[in-house]
Amino acid sequence: MIDNIKIFDSHIHYMGKFKRRDETLIDFLDRFRIDKSIVTTLNTSANKNLLIRDDINFNKKEYAEKLYAKSQHNHEEVRDLIKKNSDRLVGVYWFNPRIADDNDWKTLEKFIKDYNFKGVKIQASLDNLKIPDDLFELAEFCIGFDIPLFIHSGQSFFFQEPFRVKDIYTLVKKYGELKCVILHAAYTMEYCISCLKFFPKCSNVYFETSLSVPYGINILIKVMGNHRVMYGSDSPAATTPDIEINKIRILDLDKKTLENVFYNNISNLIGEIS
Ligand SMILES: [Zn+2]
Repeated sequence: MIDNIKIFDSHIHYMGKFKRRDETLIDFLDRFRIDKSIVTTLNTSANKNLLIRDDINFNKKEYAEKLYAKSQHNHEEVRDLIKKNSDRLVGVYWFNPRIADDNDWKTLEKFIKDYNFKGVKIQASLDNLKIPDDLFELAEFCIGFDIPLFIHSGQSFFFQEPFRVKDIYTLVKKYGELKCVILHAAYTMEYCISCLKFFPKCSNVYFETSLSVPYGINILIKVMGNHRVMYGSDSPAATTPDIEINKIRILDLDKKTLENVFYNNISNLIGEIS
């Protein structure tokens, strides 16, 4: 809680550079006065060193295959953390539908039904997803369980085909009931403006603020309304929460808007009674 406003972070990873080595995730939340948080795993399987190259000529296909994870991301540590701290943490399962077999879908279902996971996240660049084609089955899964799909925005790697805001729009147009959260929704003004073009009337599409331009967050709140924008930090992997919290505090918003952006919107979206 900060200035009497409760904080529900809608984007935290269970580990990362900005968590102190001797600190638990709950200590980390306490250090930044965060009441509750969505938590997901971190990509540890892909060989990130491969992303740093100095040779211009290389076989794109061979290279990409070396980089992409061959199995689903591990969620055991996240599951155990949530089990111990269900009053503070809610899980979101990072799923890769492109390589999913029947067992992977069953595991996903188990995490939703048994372990307090209340959403699914996809990462199109690291998992090499084609949007919207690779997401149809997952969209139906999310609608079936009435849980939101969290879509990492960003852009494709230098060796991939681009994916665009328009492609996400094609998905949400097809599945009007799908609740979807665009992560890092204003990470550049160009991306934010594309969201403003496609989604004002899509009331099931929400916008998460981590790593965003403060001016973009302000416009998203103005155009989409204060019920559709939610604070997230992408900590401790990408940054610390104080930086991301301040981007919203400097916007001079009224108290009701702050309560919605910092807590109520994500809480309502995952069906918590706050
Ligand atoms: Zn993240």
